[in-house]
Order: sequence, then structure tokens, then C-alpha cells
Amino acid sequence: MSVKLDLHLIQSVYSNHSTSLQQPPKGVLRLRKSKYSAAMKRVVAKVAVVGCGISGSICASSLARNGVSVTVFDSGRGPGGRMSQRREVIEDGKELLFDHGAPYFVVRNSEVMGLVQEWEARALVTEWKEDFGSFDCGTKKFVDIEKDGVSKKYVGLPGMNSMCKAVCRENGVETKFGTTVGKLDWLEDKKSWHLTDLDGQVLGQFDGVVASDKNVVSSRFTSTTGRTPPLDMTLAPELALKLQEVSAAPCFVLMLAFAESLSSIPVKGFSFKNSEVLSRAFCDSSKPGRSATCECWVLHSTAEYARRVIAQYGLQKPSTFLLSKVAEELLKEFQSTDLNIPHPFFMKAHRWGSAFPVTAIAKEDKCLWDGSKRLAVCGDFCVSPDVEGAVLSGMTAAKKLLDIFSCL
Ligand SMILES: Cc1cc2nc3c(=O)[nH]c(=O)nc-3n(C[C@H](O)[C@H](O)[C@H](O)COP(=O)(O)OP(=O)(O)OC[C@H]3O[C@@H](n4cnc5c(N)ncnc54)[C@H](O)[C@@H]3O)c2cc1C
Repeated sequence: MSVKLDLHLIQSVYSNHSTSLQQPPKGVLRLRKSKYSAAMKRVVAKVAVVGCGISGSICASSLARNGVSVTVFDSGRGPGGRMSQRREVIEDGKELLFDHGAPYFVVRNSEVMGLVQEWEARALVTEWKEDFGSFDCGTKKFVDIEKDGVSKKYVGLPGMNSMCKAVCRENGVETKFGTTVGKLDWLEDKKSWHLTDLDGQVLGQFDGVVASDKNVVSSRFTSTTGRTPPLDMTLAPELALKLQEVSAAPCFVLMLAFAESLSSIPVKGFSFKNSEVLSRAFCDSSKPGRSATCECWVLHSTAEYARRVIAQYGLQKPSTFLLSKVAEELLKEFQSTDLNIPHPFFMKAHRWGSAFPVTAIAKEDKCLWDGSKRLAVCGDFCVSPDVEGAVLSGMTAAKKLLDIFSCL
């Protein structure tokens, strides 16, 4: 059958599903033409993606662009996961926005670069062209100043979650926020997945599942929700075993807003040397496309500091008291740099219990995969503890599912 005929067929199938035909744009996962056509003819596949961070979003996008109907569930209020943007409304009604997760990302992989170029063309990301460096808390001096452009740092526009937000608007992608997937049941007779939320409410039946968070089988899920993890370990013992290996370093961040600019700091992002409390600081408001009404900074704690606090206060949701105490301690350390840091008019701490995975459990395969149950597990913990690793993992999970759907 000629490709033209196939596309005709696909178009009619698509119009029946009230979605418009989209060829994957340049740089985005493309199946070989024959496989693409086969997949498109079978738009019947329904996949649930657990998590709307960057890995789940990329995976959802690749699947939907190849004709799969995707539902993305996330416990959070909006898209982004660890690339979320935090919105705070202060007393006078003024809105403050902070990239309180990943401040930027870098790209080394050519496949990811293709995707980033597409995002740049769509004004979803841009380069953050500023000077960066390190600050030595021992000598109280800036060192290793890296001039603008030495290594390209990308930021989302207008926030780090812009790419995840864009995926939510794509044809074929449905999103459900504030929904924690509580149970993933495999129905052997129907060869499909049955999903329910934490209250036992049915979320739907799906031909495949992508889980983009290690907590689908981890005890962390139990410590934060009080429930058993969504995926019964006996359903996919090999995957579950691998996921048990994942551990992650925690991090507290402090969001700060100042009325005046911190002019004694010669760079817009820096790491701390010789500090047991702070690891990095970024001037969020210096990123392109951000509001310039005040100067916003985000400080990151060291993993050791965060571990100490968690060891003392536990893993449950941090109280307002604890977050205020952490905020005071991080600010005190920032002010002890002798960098002339004024008092902020806004400050708030946030805890990331699992900020950076310390192991990569699928460096070669890039995701965990059980073909017999059409179950993929993706995320940065598979490849590398950064945005690029998460993107590669999400892309690979989509490829695995598309390959299997095109063979059915
Ligand atoms: C403070 C901090 C600084 C960072 N700095 C950098 C940096 O400089 N450069 C860089 O490249 N990377 C950085 N990172 C890492 C980067 O943010 C991550 O590697 C990347 O965002 C991970 O994406 P992900 O999709 O794998 O996971 P996540 O973003 O964690 O997405 C998983 C999603 O799944 C959802 N979820 C989990 N379980 C369920 C469930 N049962 N039901 C429904 N939803 C569920 C979660 O709510 C979450 O939204 C930083 C991270 C943090 C926290």
C-alpha cells in the first residue's frame, strides 16, 4: 500500500476520533514511515501516563503524535513535576513566580537537541545568557566566573514547565491533575490495565501504562500517602526489583524576593564552595521572559543539610514551622557571605524529598520495560539525574510502546 493511501486512511480514522492529523515535527520521535503508518492505522490504543513531569510529558507527546490516545495523571496541581513553576500571591495582591525545581538544563545528546530546537522555534525555551560562577565561602570571593555563552543553559518560557504545559494542549492528550494513581491493576483476561485513584475511584482502562515516577513501587509512596504503592511487585517483579535500587538525594529550596537588586553579586547563578548548607543560588528574575518588577532568587540547600533536617523531622509533609525554620537557616547562610544581602520582602522554603536520583538504573536501555504487559517505567532515575536524562527516558518509553502497538 502506498504511503499516500495510508495517510488517507489515517486521516479518516483520525477524523473519527476528533483529533487532527499531525506528523511528528522535526526532532521529535518519528517512527519509520511504514511503522508510523501502521501505528496510525491503529489509533485504538489507549495509554495512561502516570506523571506530567518532563519524562511523562515527552512520552505522552510522542505517543499522541503517533496516534495513541493518551491520558496523563498527576498528583500535582499542574504540569512540570520537578520542573514546576511556583506561583505565590503576596499581601498586596502581587504575583511572584519562581522556578523552584530545575533552574535550567543543558543538552549534550543530539536527539534531545533536535527536540530543544523545535521548542526554541515554538518559543517554549530559550538560552539563558548570563555570567555564572562559584562563590568560596572560605575566602568570601567569587571564583571560576564563566562568561556568557561558554556552555548553553536553556530555560523554559515563561517558566521551566512551559514544555510540559504545551504537551497538555496537544491533540490526543488528556490531562487529569490533582489525581494520584493509587492502583495499577493488570486484567489478564482483557490484557489491559485498570487504574483507580487513592479513593478507589475508577480512572479508566488502558492498553498500556507508562509510570514516570519510581514511587509506583517504593515505600516512599507509603510514607507520603499512607497507602501501599500502586504497582503490585509481583506483577512485574524484574522492574520492581530494579526500582528498589533507586535512591535520591533531597534538597530544600528557598524562594526569595527583594525590592532592590543584589548588585554586589557579579553573576546570575553560582554554586557555593565550602558551605555545609547552601549548594547553588540563581537569580530567577534575570531569566528571559520573567517579570522585572522585583528581584527573585532561588537558593538550593546541600543534600547533607536536607538529609539532616529530614532525619530530625521525618519524611511526612513538612509543617509551616519547619519550613520557616529552614528558610531562616538558608537565608542566614546566604547573608553570612558578606555579599550585602538585604532582607527580602518575601521568603518561603520548599522541600524536594527526592530531588536528584543517585543511581541510574537503566543507563543503556533508558527505561524499564515489560512488553508482555505493555508497561514502561521512565524518568531521570533511569538515565541521569537531570532534564536531559528524563527526556531521553520518556522518548524511549514511547518508542517501546509504539513498536509494540505497530506489531499488533
Ligand atoms: C531543586 C532541583 C534542582 C534541579 N536542578 C537541575 C538542573 O540544574 N539541571 C537539570 O537538568 N536538572 C535539574 N534538576 C532535575 C530535574 O528537575 C529532573 O531530572 C527532571 O525534572 C525529572 O523529570 P521526571 O519527569 O523524570 O520526574 P518528575 O519531574 O519528578 O515527574 C514525576 C511526576 O509524577 C507525578 N506522580 C508521581 N506518582 C504519581 C502517582 N501515583 N499518581 C499521579 N502522579 C504521580 C509527580 O507528581 C511528578 O509530577 C533539579 C531538580 C530539583 C528538584
